Amino acid sequence: MRTPASNLAIALLLAGVSVAPAQDKGTLNPQPLPPLAHPDDPKTPAKQLFGRKTEPTAGPSHVVGFYASGCLAGAEALPINGSTWQVMRLSRNRNWGHPQLIHFLENLSAKAAKTGTWPGLLVGDMSQPRGGPMITGHASHQVGLDADIWLSPMPPRQLSRVEREEMLSTMVVAGDRKDVDPKLWTHGHFGIIKAAAQDPLVQRIFVNAAIKKALCREAGDDRAWLEKVRPWWGHDYHFHVRLRCPGDSPECKAQAPAGGGDGCGKDLNYWFTDAVLHPKPSPGPEVLNPGKPLSSLPPACRTVLMSPNLHAAGSASGDHR
Ligand SMILES: [Zn+2]
Repeated sequence: MRTPASNLAIALLLAGVSVAPAQDKGTLNPQPLPPLAHPDDPKTPAKQLFGRKTEPTAGPSHVVGFYASGCLAGAEALPINGSTWQVMRLSRNRNWGHPQLIHFLENLSAKAAKTGTWPGLLVGDMSQPRGGPMITGHASHQVGLDADIWLSPMPPRQLSRVEREEMLSTMVVAGDRKDVDPKLWTHGHFGIIKAAAQDPLVQRIFVNAAIKKALCREAGDDRAWLEKVRPWWGHDYHFHVRLRCPGDSPECKAQAPAGGGDGCGKDLNYWFTDAVLHPKPSPGPEVLNPGKPLSSLPPACRTVLMSPNLHAAGSASGDHR
């Protein structure tokens, strides 16, 4: 029988955004996953297949399916060092996206630097080289249009490989989870989330309810952008940006517009109830969801999975690691 807690976890899975786990560190020496014994078995979870792809497909970029059930052809890597961004947790190999996401991150980080909001961005998980479900961490991020941005400004120096695997982001939510921590929350946090939400390419932004509460308090009269910023579990040390379907991707399944006003005040009450702030322990999404088979994804994702690598074996392909 399903407990209410497991129903909640399933609802979260279906909603397409997982409960963000505590901050995971990476490793300097990532090991390739062992080959699957029966990769062609139709019951093999799609996450085990997409999770073993280390290269994107060649050819034009396009998105297939929905943020929480899809894949990505012709992905581009966000370079690990830009003048106004750095990629974190390189061992995860999740700095891939549709070119529109790459440009968005470049533009947002440049704007943040230019306006003096932050020197730049630290970018966490985007998508796998071919998108698709992941073995760990997210229900969405499957189509190269989602990115996690740390709630810590980029320091004015290049981070080492070790720092990129082990540094922790700033936990801006207070210990009681009812508001942000005034010692850690800054106007820069407000500014970067607002700038992201104001970009017309952005479909939704997910933040912890305590962060949304702070944004509501500080927004003043300019509030239209708050509509896109939605409370969600986790998202207390990073915020999650989701872009709209790009014009080159007729197979991309759009999400309904945010709608419903600024989502402040009593709209947030639910998120501060005891059941949400102090949920009963659940077995966790991994136990509840061993993973859906490839047949659960749009049929074109089989083609994306089977297509040759962008870089033929033996050529230099390690530049994104
Ligand atoms: Zn995310």
